[in-house]
Amino acid sequence: MKRIGVLTSGGDAPGMNAAIRAVVRTSIYNDIEVFGIKHGYSGLIDKDILPMTVYSVADIIQRGGTILNTSRCKFFMTEAGRKQGVAVLKEFGIDVLIVIGGDGSYKGALELSRLGIEVIGIPGTIDNDIGSTDYTIGFDTAVSTALDAVSKIRDTSSSHNRVNIVEVMGRNCGDIALYAGIAGGAEYIIIPEVQYDIDSVCEKILRGKERGKLHSIVIVAEGAGDFKEITEAVQQQTRVATRGTNLGYIQRGGSPTGPDRILASRMGYMAVECVKNNNTNCVISIRNNQYITIPIEDALEMKKEINLELYNIANILSI
Ligand code: ADP
Repeated sequence: MKRIGVLTSGGDAPGMNAAIRAVVRTSIYNDIEVFGIKHGYSGLIDKDILPMTVYSVADIIQRGGTILNTSRCKFFMTEAGRKQGVAVLKEFGIDVLIVIGGDGSYKGALELSRLGIEVIGIPGTIDNDIGSTDYTIGFDTAVSTALDAVSKIRDTSSSHNRVNIVEVMGRNCGDIALYAGIAGGAEYIIIPEVQYDIDSVCEKILRGKERGKLHSIVIVAEGAGDFKEITEAVQQQTRVATRGTNLGYIQRGGSPTGPDRILASRMGYMAVECVKNNNTNCVISIRNNQYITIPIEDALEMKKEINLELYNIANILSI
């Protein structure tokens, strides 16, 4: 029977623990030995590896972050680093490595597969920026956190009749902004995938003010612009008191939502099923509500597309 290793890599995301738990418990249920590798690819190179038991993952499904810790490892970007990683996996008798992370972590896994290690990727990142899956583990929680903050900002914004510019995370992907924006009733959503001009943002704010709106919320995705610059420009052009807030790292923390825990549990379970069925060198994805596997090489070629229909709906609903 194969021996499994599991690690989390890149930026942490709420729900990673639920995925680790699912991998470990499904393995043990199937009498497969499973090892936890700490600190992502760095810990692999440093042999920071421990056998996992049913109890190692007790009481973690509700916890944010990752009990295995994570890292960004420069040495792993080199051939020498990866060869060292392979040697360590061989030393521990680990045949299949399950990598929970984003596209960067998938690239590292693909390189390992080229060196003869079987790999499986599970999408874990709040950014929802992976082309091969509709949703990543942690995204739903990040949207909930951003939404909660937007609702609070809306209260004070409305008391003072202000405009608030709120920057959210997402790297080059506008999904957190789009989902938090539509759910939070934002007046304007600025995302990297759609060109915007500051004049139309200001016009919309002024139109709203004329017909009696008490406040305006503009959500800016981090990849689309700087909230400070936008705040200044809006204040200057509209002459309405404008404040800016960058939500920052709070979006990466917190207890995962129910949907994130379910996504993580199902994906972790499915990864081990793939090991049993000799379906490796693939990633686990959810597309059109179906859990599927995609060869890792193909997955990395897939471009993330923004849901323009949702963007248009958000525009219509915020006239
Ligand atoms: P994410 O997985 O969230 O996209 P990163 O892009 O930071 O996060 O990637 C995480 C880690 O994966 C990197 O620190 C590095 O160790 C490894 N990695 C990223 N890209 C490559 C690559 N092209 N080749 C080998 N390893 C990579």
